[in-house]
Amino acid sequence: MQKYYLVGSPISHSLSPAMHNLAFQTLGIDASYGLCEAGIAELPDAVDKLKRENASGWNVTMPDKQAMCELCDELSPAASISRSVNTVRNDNGRLYGDTTDGAGFLRAIREGGFEDSMRDITLLGTGGAAVSILIACAMHGADRITIFYNRESSAEKMIPVIGRLRDYLANDRMPEIKLESLHDAEVIRRCILHTSLLINATNVGMAGSGNENASPLSDASCLRAGTDVFDAIYNPEKTVLLQTAEKAGLRIMNGLPMLLYQGAESFRIWTGREMPVDIVRERVFSF
Ligand code: NAP
Repeated sequence: MQKYYLVGSPISHSLSPAMHNLAFQTLGIDASYGLCEAGIAELPDAVDKLKRENASGWNVTMPDKQAMCELCDELSPAASISRSVNTVRNDNGRLYGDTTDGAGFLRAIREGGFEDSMRDITLLGTGGAAVSILIACAMHGADRITIFYNRESSAEKMIPVIGRLRDYLANDRMPEIKLESLHDAEVIRRCILHTSLLINATNVGMAGSGNENASPLSDASCLRAGTDVFDAIYNPEKTVLLQTAEKAGLRIMNGLPMLLYQGAESFRIWTGREMPVDIVRERVFSF
């Protein structure tokens, strides 16, 4: 039997075991997906144990995504640019690391019919989700990406990521990328007036974050027809930002398809098979 795991801490709330075990069972793959609780300090020992056990692969979640990069023998371009790994495939002791949030985002955008709006992008946030989305948008050929940061120190952390992205994409394929403050309402307003896709990748609006009833846009009156709005948050189903955008008549999408498809991409990397996403969506994501 092949063995797969989720590595990180805390992980008991994760939907990944239900998602992957259902997919294995549906496709008749003799495999199991379990939990391996490990913080950063325990990660090297946990990885040694998984290799000794000959685990076929594992997902990595907070706080271990960066540390896992250092323990891989090979990285995908997206993992190398973001310095973050959420999926490991164990090829006979040689570890291949990838990060699948960007692929999940792109598939969600494509299947949701938002692909045409991947031109002039406004990206709110600079955390793990934002970095994955930034790389995916740039690799997908966006013309312009304006990133809005909360804290100055977070803006500084984006600079090496943008540098690695520039090194990877030849200069002529590199979108125009700007970093602006989320607290400059006038810059946000001007940016949103010409944006084709607004993406929230901050925690603002997320259940349990303490600001579930808030929007990352202090003034949403600048939202105009022709802008699609994607929120990486999947709980609640419609954040305040999405509710406002919907009322303004804009097309909206929440983060649930991205969550499903990032898992499907891990599954494909491990098994070479397509996850039965309709069954998984219906049985695991019906909250
Ligand atoms: P993260 O790394 O902790 O980043 C959080 C981001 O939110 C940072 O840019 C942070 O800015 C910003 N932020 C936090 N509080 C803020 C506030 N009060 N005002 C403005 N900005 C604020 O988290 P993450 O992993 O990127 O996740 C971000 C969101 O995406 C979460 O809601 C998560 O549920 C969602 N997500 C969805 C998927 C999916 O598959 N759909 C995958 C990953 C994440 P500072 O650091 O500068 O404060």
